[in-house]
Amino acid sequence: MRIENFPDEIRPHLMPAVAGELVYRCLGCDKTFGIEQLLYTCPECREVLLLEDLKFDRLKKTPGPMWHKIFDYRRMLNEPSVRGIYRYHEFIGPVIPLDSVVWLGEGHTPAVEGSGPMQDRVGIRFFFKNDGQNPSASFKDRGMASALSYIQFLVQTGKVEDVLAICASTGDTSAAAALYAAYLKPHIKSAVLLPHGKVTPQQLSQPLGSGAAVFEIPGVFDDCMKVVEALAETYNVALLNSKNAWRILGQESYSYEVAQDFEYEMADKVIVVPIGNAGNITAIMSGFLKFHDVGIIDALPKIIGVQSHHANPVYRYYQEKDPAKRKFSPVTVRPSVAQAAMIGNPVSMPRVIRLAQKYDQAAGEERVFFAEVTEQQIMDWELLANRHGHIACTHGGESLAGLINAKKEGIVKDHEIAILDSTAHALKFAGFQEMYFENRFPPEFEVVPDPAIINAPELVRPADLEKVPAPGQPLMGEDFQRFVDRTAQEIAGKLDLKRLSD
Ligand SMILES: *Cc1c(COP(=O)(O)O)cnc(C)c1O
Ligand SMILES: [Zn+2]
Repeated sequence: MRIENFPDEIRPHLMPAVAGELVYRCLGCDKTFGIEQLLYTCPECREVLLLEDLKFDRLKKTPGPMWHKIFDYRRMLNEPSVRGIYRYHEFIGPVIPLDSVVWLGEGHTPAVEGSGPMQDRVGIRFFFKNDGQNPSASFKDRGMASALSYIQFLVQTGKVEDVLAICASTGDTSAAAALYAAYLKPHIKSAVLLPHGKVTPQQLSQPLGSGAAVFEIPGVFDDCMKVVEALAETYNVALLNSKNAWRILGQESYSYEVAQDFEYEMADKVIVVPIGNAGNITAIMSGFLKFHDVGIIDALPKIIGVQSHHANPVYRYYQEKDPAKRKFSPVTVRPSVAQAAMIGNPVSMPRVIRLAQKYDQAAGEERVFFAEVTEQQIMDWELLANRHGHIACTHGGESLAGLINAKKEGIVKDHEIAILDSTAHALKFAGFQEMYFENRFPPEFEVVPDPAIINAPELVRPADLEKVPAPGQPLMGEDFQRFVDRTAQEIAGKLDLKRLSD
């Protein structure tokens, strides 16, 4: 719809203007730093940062119901800069002018309700929010749109030129970074570091296809991350890992979308999200806190962070119930089908600790929980979901398994409604499905296929057929007719089909 056709009271708010004052805030020493330069850690104490709007309170002058209208009307705009995460510009990056915004179709992924039989099985109403339907097929695009819009802003204002964007990745960060950087050529180039053999072929194909420089490093993600940090500390590169606070800011859009898609009613909602480097759960908590603070939502949803027993440092940390006694220890990861979350020393752990505490405080009760799932559960629930019309990746399966375990433990109540983050598209992790269906998981995964879920293609080649077509060798005439008829008969037999009565 054209701007002149919107109601008078909405028109002035439709297109967001540059406003606010963003600074980096150190989670260690609490100092703030200007955003004229890219910072990843505090220049003074080396702790991680978050972005903070020093003029945030101005947003409270607009009443919650008015915000609802603004966001709901913005849905109808055809202006690209506000069709993605910047629909929530005031919360996502109020200092970024709209003409610096990069939008490649990310955000506003559908929340699809669990199929009837699947919800019966789980025993609670739930939705998968399909973040695999982002342009590079994972939620990482949300944070990348934010980080690259900011970098584009720095380029446009002459603060930087010829940026080399760099990241370590369990696969999806590199796919997203390479995609957005490729779109911004020639100003921005990208290089990605991947743990050798620890990303799927589909994920590897993505940065290669986008033209990034791709480096494979021995070890696991945590090793890659250290190399990238060394590069970012020593050379002039732009780090695109979620250590970069702009990534977190963009990923907050997930919460804003959930709020908007569920009519801003969050009291009975449960958000379930897998945890790897812990950037996503950080962003989700932060996003809901901001909307709550401004009065856009009047309750904070429950949040459940899920980890596999093969990569569970965050879960372990919160096993100690007395906050004073909690002590973070990195773990050595074991192979996981939730491979994008196979991280033993999450960079955002200090952010999680800070925000989970703030979240519980703002809610007036414990609202952030952690659940652990087995590799077996992840695979079984992913495949079950997909047999019911979903497109969950292994991490989506992890969310579902986490919901089931949390429900067993009484963390989730029957009347509540869960929103499960399926963080990537099923196709990226099709190799794990294949290992399951062909029963060839190496023992260290600890996954044994359930025969009821296995599926395999069946070659149809009637034994009495002498000739079958081959590439470049089509059959003709009677041979072809016989091939079609016999093959159809054979399939009809296998499927037990009834003939049409003539
Ligand atoms: C990156 C990633 C995760 C983990 O998210 P963090 O922000 O690192 O906790 C989970 N699932 C998928 C598909 C990912 O790509
Ligand atoms: Zn500091």
